[in-house]
Amino acid sequence: MSRFAKTDMQILGHQKILELLPKLRAQTLLFTGPEGVGRRTVARWFAAGLNCEQGFPPCGRCVSCRQEPHPDYLEIAPQGETKTGKKARAPQIRLEQIAPREGSEEPSLLEWMATYPRFRAKVAVIDGAHHLGEPAANALLKLLEEPPAFARLVLIAPGRELVLPTLVSRSLEVGFAPLSEALLHPLSTDPEVLAYAQGAPGKVYWALTNPAEFAKLTGRAQGVLEALQAGPTQTLEALKLLSEVDDALPYLGHLLGQGRVESPAYKEVLEALSRAQDALSAYVGEDLVQTWLALRLYKAFPALCAGDAAKAG
Ligand SMILES: [Zn+2]
Repeated sequence: MSRFAKTDMQILGHQKILELLPKLRAQTLLFTGPEGVGRRTVARWFAAGLNCEQGFPPCGRCVSCRQEPHPDYLEIAPQGETKTGKKARAPQIRLEQIAPREGSEEPSLLEWMATYPRFRAKVAVIDGAHHLGEPAANALLKLLEEPPAFARLVLIAPGRELVLPTLVSRSLEVGFAPLSEALLHPLSTDPEVLAYAQGAPGKVYWALTNPAEFAKLTGRAQGVLEALQAGPTQTLEALKLLSEVDDALPYLGHLLGQGRVESPAYKEVLEALSRAQDALSAYVGEDLVQTWLALRLYKAFPALCAGDAAKAG
């Protein structure tokens, strides 16, 4: 085990952001970008540097850098699980995570922020700012409007358009782009893993540390491809199986596009996948979305494959 867990972390890419962050005065930052791209890791690095005796980059050895957990660092994330441990359909950051509430066991963000830091800055990360319920967002807004001088807040979301405009207008956006494949090569050169990661090192780590789950994903995505040749009902069944694995649609898009990215039908397929993804994020009924998607894919599939034989021959 590393003694420097917080600052010892390896950050891949994002060099310009690492240079920029120490110069920013804004007390509230909004980190946007795809899941797994490194927003959380950079937020932890930023917090470590704000409190390190040496400043940036954090040294990993001083009293502050060795705190684990760090008393001046707080991460708030949506409660994604129901009481039975099943994944919640609509993860949400609840009011009691932000503002004090009677009977709540954990101190809220506002209570935590009300005391002075042990070092220089108190850094709170709201991981999943797009999952803030309205009461929670309103309570947070009060803090963003008048933060104590020692407070820094980092909101994390896939894109600014998903976050309430009142919160966006009080933050400075820092956008994280997917990394190039070359930057990911030290982690893995497996083309399947890289196709799944789409430039996000966090997804490479996930695939490498969860080989069984990853094999399930690739196997079930392959199953959809086979089902598309059989019929719409089979396609729907295969899609249902695939969607039991997290985050599977972009990977299916990659498989369907192999050797066909220039086909006009592929554009249709990508559009259908992205609309399905949006609908699922908006908590439209899963059955409805899957049925719709199965039909769209099944209809587009012959045109998608039409060029295959010509290319092979
Ligand atoms: Zn240090």
